[in-house]
Amino acid sequence: MESNQREQLKKWWEDLLVFSPRTMGSSGEKDAVNYLVNELNNLGIKSEIQSFTYPGWELVSFTGLHIESSGEELVESYPALGSGSGKVIQGKLVEIGESVIWDMYNWPRLGVFTHHGEIAAYISARLGGKALSQTLIMNNNTKPHLFIGEDTYRLWQEQLKNQKEILVNFELEVIHTPEKEGQNICVRIPGNSDFIDKKTFKIIIGAHYDTMYNTIGAYDNTSGVAVLLGLIQWFQQQRLPFQVEFVFFGAEEFALSGSKAYVEKLTNKELEEIDLMINLDGFGRGEELECWVGADWLEQLICNKLMNSSHFSRWKMKSPPPPGSDHTPFFQKDIPVVMFTVNDQEILHSERDVPHQAMFLNMIKVLEFLKELLSQDLVELKEKQ
Ligand SMILES: [Zn+2]
Repeated sequence: MESNQREQLKKWWEDLLVFSPRTMGSSGEKDAVNYLVNELNNLGIKSEIQSFTYPGWELVSFTGLHIESSGEELVESYPALGSGSGKVIQGKLVEIGESVIWDMYNWPRLGVFTHHGEIAAYISARLGGKALSQTLIMNNNTKPHLFIGEDTYRLWQEQLKNQKEILVNFELEVIHTPEKEGQNICVRIPGNSDFIDKKTFKIIIGAHYDTMYNTIGAYDNTSGVAVLLGLIQWFQQQRLPFQVEFVFFGAEEFALSGSKAYVEKLTNKELEEIDLMINLDGFGRGEELECWVGADWLEQLICNKLMNSSHFSRWKMKSPPPPGSDHTPFFQKDIPVVMFTVNDQEILHSERDVPHQAMFLNMIKVLEFLKELLSQDLVELKEKQ
């Protein structure tokens, strides 16, 4: 990649971080939308705003989770996005089962019981890592819900096993707004008519621009947004046999509200015309490219490309694609999808998600790999199906 392109990619990434956190409904999120529209304009590209509604949620204040044992102890924890408000004065912890997160993870679920035996709040323990925030949008959920890390949970588990009582206190205030307006930013680049004989090969390529409330999201997903801008800039100068719609999705962290709305607005005919959806979500510090893929022919092509490419020496397929991001509403409509990520669970949805040079190098690699993937081979393979 030429050095001016690298610099541009880095500039987009760093510029967007200034607006963070970009949780939906925040001023940072609105600034990010304006910035993206403006940058697209600077590239000579017209974009279209698609509005949708989503269930709004905003954190007002949180005291932190305190343990009443030998003195007061503050434990690392984050409120769930979608949690209710509440005050817990002397809650007793009881392990009651599992919380199912995104249909992907089953995490230990603790009830915080008052001395009357009522559940005043919930705490879920994230297995395999530190505390983070996650989305829990449940229609009938009104109680506070916190996430802690595995270390804290193991310690508690030991204490509970020894019949030791664990008492906690905290206060959390949030605002729920039933219908908030969010925005997807769409860019359409028509295919080159020289190549088109029967029908145009149609691709949607997306990345979510919003972040969790508690992070600047250098990895999740400012990295993906910058790569998408780089891809648009490159695509504009190509003569490729595709019609591509690039989408900057809003409200991914709000149970995929932006991408769900996008898919819901498509007619059956429009859905049938989509040959492929590519989702870019999170290029972290690691070395392994994960491809969450949903179609055999696509998996075959990506494997071949990766085997013949020097960009990633480590990679793996996950199929069928786990449901944690914006490819899901497309996959549910039988559209072949692939999500690319360099997974970085250690920093996900936390204050630890800050810029790192290794992220930037991965962004360059992914962009280069996508340029190789978006080739005539795609059309030929799909046609054989
Ligand atoms: Zn993400």
